[in-house]
Amino acid sequence: MLIVFLGAPGAGKGTQARTLAEKKNLTHLATGDLLRAEVAAGSDLGLAAKTFMDRGDLVPDDVMIRMIQGRLDSPESAGILLDGFPRTVAQAQALDDALSAEGAGVDRSIYFEVSEEELVRRLAGRSTCPGCQRAYHDTFNPPKSAEECDGCGTKLIEREDDKPEAVRNRLKVYGTQTTPVLEYYKSAGILVEVDGEQSIVAVQTDLAAAVV
Ligand code: AMP
Repeated sequence: MLIVFLGAPGAGKGTQARTLAEKKNLTHLATGDLLRAEVAAGSDLGLAAKTFMDRGDLVPDDVMIRMIQGRLDSPESAGILLDGFPRTVAQAQALDDALSAEGAGVDRSIYFEVSEEELVRRLAGRSTCPGCQRAYHDTFNPPKSAEECDGCGTKLIEREDDKPEAVRNRLKVYGTQTTPVLEYYKSAGILVEVDGEQSIVAVQTDLAAAVV
């Protein structure tokens, strides 16, 4: 099974992906998390990607496509949940090509619909664990102990790209480069829309119904 999560930054993809992957025994592949691990490790890829990420721009397609190829096998799980990929039509096409070479394809593409006003509110109050990448929100999803990750106890940080200028750019980039991907999956007949403005638990319920 291969599931793709689509939606603007702050739509709740990462939070929901973690829970769904656990529930359905899926391998959670979050390209943003993979890139941040490369940045933290100081690898050549990380150094090249950091400038794009800090500005809120997309990392070039060829880098991302190479990163995702070779990770599409899931021998120890029931399938793969892609979170943050594809973000351009070229990436979506490359994904289809890689999968069809193995006689497979994307089974479902889930779009988290959230208004821009709500996205800005969420990103403004967001903090992230640099250890396990869990995201929190001051009001909607606060950590149990102030400023520490519930999962691993690491001190939470504000991501560089959650600062206002980068957020504005990320939303613009999403509008121009990623929204055409919605049409790509819609015309393939595999797009499912979920109301991402509901509570975390209500979105979980809708997702469980969409991914059976
Ligand atoms: P995320 O954690 O998904 O919000 O991703 C953080 C940043 O990583 C994005 O703003 C991009 O700079 C980069 N990134 C993650 N996934 C992709 C992708 N599929 N294509 C291009 N850039 C990506």
